Amino acid sequence: MSQSVAMIALLTVPGNLYAAPVREERPNAMEPVPPAVVKIGGYVGHRLDRNLRGMLMHKDENALLQPFRERGPKQSAWIGEHIGKWLSAASWTYAYSRDEQMLAKLKRVAGGLIATQMPDGYLGTYAEQDRWTGWDIWIHKYNMLGLLDYYDVTGDVAAIGACRKMGDLLVNTFGPDKRDILKAGEHSGMASASVLQPVLMLYRRTEEQRYLDFAKYIVEATERPDGPRIVSTLLENSDVQKVANAKAYEMLSDIIGMIDLHRISGDDRLLHAATAAGDDIIRHRLYITGGCTFGEHFRNEGCLPNVGHVAETCVTMSLMQLYRDLQHLTGDTKCADSAENLIFNHLLACQRPDGEQISYYTPMWGHKFYMDLLGCCISSGPRALAIIPSMYYLRWSAPPTQDRVLVNLIGESTLETTLPNSQKARIEQHTDYPFSSTVRIKATTEGWTGYSLSVRLPASASKPAISINGQPVPLDALSEKMFNVLVRGTPLEMDIDLHLSWRIIEGTSANTGLFALQYGPMIYAFDLHANRDVPGAINCAFDMDLKSLAPQLVKTGDQWMAKVNGHIRQADGSWKPAQITLLPFADAGVRDYFSVWLADRARYKPNGISLFTQVHENTSRLGSNRGSFADNSTATFTNTDNGEKRDQDWFEVDAGWHTKFNVIIFRHGKATPTGGWFDTSKGKPKILFKSWHDYTEVASITDYPATTAENPSTLTDGQAFRVVIPKDKREPAFRVRVTGTPAAGNKPAQNSASCSEIQVFYDPTVD
Ligand SMILES: [Zn+2]
Repeated sequence: MSQSVAMIALLTVPGNLYAAPVREERPNAMEPVPPAVVKIGGYVGHRLDRNLRGMLMHKDENALLQPFRERGPKQSAWIGEHIGKWLSAASWTYAYSRDEQMLAKLKRVAGGLIATQMPDGYLGTYAEQDRWTGWDIWIHKYNMLGLLDYYDVTGDVAAIGACRKMGDLLVNTFGPDKRDILKAGEHSGMASASVLQPVLMLYRRTEEQRYLDFAKYIVEATERPDGPRIVSTLLENSDVQKVANAKAYEMLSDIIGMIDLHRISGDDRLLHAATAAGDDIIRHRLYITGGCTFGEHFRNEGCLPNVGHVAETCVTMSLMQLYRDLQHLTGDTKCADSAENLIFNHLLACQRPDGEQISYYTPMWGHKFYMDLLGCCISSGPRALAIIPSMYYLRWSAPPTQDRVLVNLIGESTLETTLPNSQKARIEQHTDYPFSSTVRIKATTEGWTGYSLSVRLPASASKPAISINGQPVPLDALSEKMFNVLVRGTPLEMDIDLHLSWRIIEGTSANTGLFALQYGPMIYAFDLHANRDVPGAINCAFDMDLKSLAPQLVKTGDQWMAKVNGHIRQADGSWKPAQITLLPFADAGVRDYFSVWLADRARYKPNGISLFTQVHENTSRLGSNRGSFADNSTATFTNTDNGEKRDQDWFEVDAGWHTKFNVIIFRHGKATPTGGWFDTSKGKPKILFKSWHDYTEVASITDYPATTAENPSTLTDGQAFRVVIPKDKREPAFRVRVTGTPAAGNKPAQNSASCSEIQVFYDPTVD
């Protein structure tokens, strides 16, 4: 072992998750305290405990190891990424929990993985002839991340030995005069370039210059004209959507590595690019629940469909890392506000509350599909949750303020640590936040030097009031949502009233006519199961003002919920007042339909807004009119009149991910003298679902008029046809297709059909 490795091993004694860096040209402004000195209780503490005792402890070890024991082409291309993600999540969770069973399992899995490493250092799942194709580098990335995190919490030198061998194999295989790293990964090379992060971790722990040189080669390669040009594009445009193919998970993984290379190399362009990405995401790309991406890509501002490929959990994990790293480096607390929104909403919403499953995508309405299988997001969820403890308490890094502690996240918790000035610090937070405004912080020290205590006041705290040892603190002492006080001598008791309030978030673009309710950082959602005693609860609407809603937070057993005044629509169209239960988005949709968006009674549409609003649209052929048919508006339509003649035409809406629904409304587009409708002389148009691989016919549009190729009969522009899907055909599906025979009108050499909407609804009140 070289001297530097011995030094690092000493610095990374168990409990110090974050290895002290060998050298830093750009020191962090802040860093987390070791996770082992933090204990989190309350709502978040319970979810962290479930993450440990649920998915992490229950993960099938053999399923993780098998792809490495039997390498070869007969397995999925990225099957090997899961073990590294598990090792990383379990190491971080062990660093926080000190759970002995977790440690024992960690040792078994890490040992099992290392035992499959080939003599030349290869630790992928591919056959010899397929090496470095597909996702092979990506798999090595996660193996290095997982084993280095494991090494940091256990000091097991076998792990860093395995990572050195992987690092050397990569260095010897890829480079300016060797194989091209960009060609060995998907998404313009962004996937393979993300090995940057563990290569830098390896450099920090070994001080071997060749790893740093390799890291610089990777970033230089990404800036080539044929590369994704992440840094230069972000510096030019400050727009993540303009970077390569806008694939979020891979891009963010690269940016996280670049932040670290900035620390080591001092190259400010890397930091500016990362900051530009963070700013663009926070300003333009987020759901109100803090999640990001539709279809796994960054989208145009305002394009945030509510169902389907919503907020990939891998992106949630990457955002957690980005917010954490940017705050550490710059000390900017706006990342903490975004992280808090993400944690309390989209992150906890992807975890089934019992901690046994994770959802791949987490929609804003519909049904959540939780799973426990080897899927990218299913492995990323526990890892994203495992980051939370490192965000609660931070410490300023540089003298003379390194003895200043920041309460970064409000929440029931305790910190007990010894600061660099040898002062013992104990900080307790007692609160039901985010369900309550009141927080009591007790801070003590043993010694006369003391320490500075800062409290970050959450963005949702509108007019906070603070008293210290019973004495109110003047409001002008609060600067930039941060409050500072010196802890010395006698214990300090701080009472904070955050004055959280209910807030209405009005829906825009596709969600016009809808609104969401927020208390503090948490968004509350309608949950059908929680309202099973309210007949017709799904057909409910609300008066969109806080006085009429009169929301009240109550706790039943362990479940927090909001009771609000609503109205149930009766068969005759009248409204009957009813009390409706809303659950935190994070707890909603566990058993049945849920919706973050609530209907404003003044703008209520009898059928509501299609679950599939703003999703992808496809047609059998492109015609002269290409308006949207997934926008809830009959003002736009699509047709297929390209001058050719076809036997069949179809229109299709595609959410990309399974959703339950039972009612379809097809709206005809516009008939012209040369066609634009379905000819029903040989049969009515049909509705098809796509669930997995095949389309299944589920119903016919029997109400469609008896038309011919020449005559549209009684059909009117925008006419709606409502079809209830038969019970035995109601499988969750992700695509709905309407297909039929196109009509020719007065020009028999061609034909066409048209469609102004395909709307998709879930209505539990239909037969
Ligand atoms: Zn994923």
